[in-house]
Amino acid sequence: MNDFLSRLRYRLSVFMQGRYGMDHLNRVLLISYFVLYLIQRFKPNRALYYLSTVLLIYTLFRILSRNVSKRYQENVKFESAWRNVTGFFKDFSFDKLKDRFSQAKEYHIYKCPRCRQKIRIPRGKGHIMVKCPKCAFEFHKKS
Ligand SMILES: [Zn+2]
Repeated sequence: MNDFLSRLRYRLSVFMQGRYGMDHLNRVLLISYFVLYLIQRFKPNRALYYLSTVLLIYTLFRILSRNVSKRYQENVKFESAWRNVTGFFKDFSFDKLKDRFSQAKEYHIYKCPRCRQKIRIPRGKGHIMVKCPKCAFEFHKKS
């Protein structure tokens, strides 16, 4: 049995020679495939079934591809998109969102007419003189 396994592993390594193999993108594709497959197993859906099949075929195509440099470039692009998405969720917090909302209630954001600098002005103060912190330009605003 052990002999069989090692022979199988050897055959596989020969088969995979010069082929691309696994990367981050393929792992995410495979996980997406399993998730879609499980969902449509519990709740049969033709579109999901086709989508999961296409995902599986595309993943296998990438794993077995001999165009290693092209697959590598795809993974580099995917990694940068992945960092953007995970970075967004890492930075996201409900407290920050609440702060943003309460600020919007109490303040108004104006743009300096001269240099377009954004200036935060408290609401409900009537006519006020605003001095741009960047270019020192002064202008009237009703808040
Ligand atoms: Zn200005």
